[in-house]
Amino acid sequence: MHHFVHSSNELLRKRGYRLTPQRFMILSVIQEAEQHLSVEQIQERVQKRNPYVSLSTIYRTLELLRELGLVRENHLPGGQPRYEAAEGQAHHHLVCRHCHATIHLNESLLGNLNEQLQEQYGYHGLTLDLVAAGYCDECWKAMQQQT
Ligand SMILES: [Zn+2]
Ligand SMILES: [Zn+2]
Repeated sequence: MHHFVHSSNELLRKRGYRLTPQRFMILSVIQEAEQHLSVEQIQERVQKRNPYVSLSTIYRTLELLRELGLVRENHLPGGQPRYEAAEGQAHHHLVCRHCHATIHLNESLLGNLNEQLQEQYGYHGLTLDLVAAGYCDECWKAMQQQT
């Protein structure tokens, strides 16, 4: 069992939940994707393994996994929320407005923004959820050629 799924199992048990086969499958699908999945993409991958898992089960499971902090729900440019495993802590996205390619920003780029916010505004225990949107190199070049 993958380490993340294994520790997730323990977390669920501690909170009084069971890692049912369906929950396990949905969590694994998100974990293995290594990208940001929409609900439809999750449904497609889950139903490939077990066609009897309903969309409402997927929604309910996502809700639970999100509450437990195992899955992140991201609201990125390009419509619907997308999901990923919530490993690691701070987490920032760079998104292409055109093809919606999404990569994670290197946190060191933000320098000491957290401390700055704390110092200047007196807010504590800050979490930062940065989304930078623009056009990836490929889309940008294609757009230049069109004009
Ligand atoms: Zn792009
Ligand atoms: Zn992400």
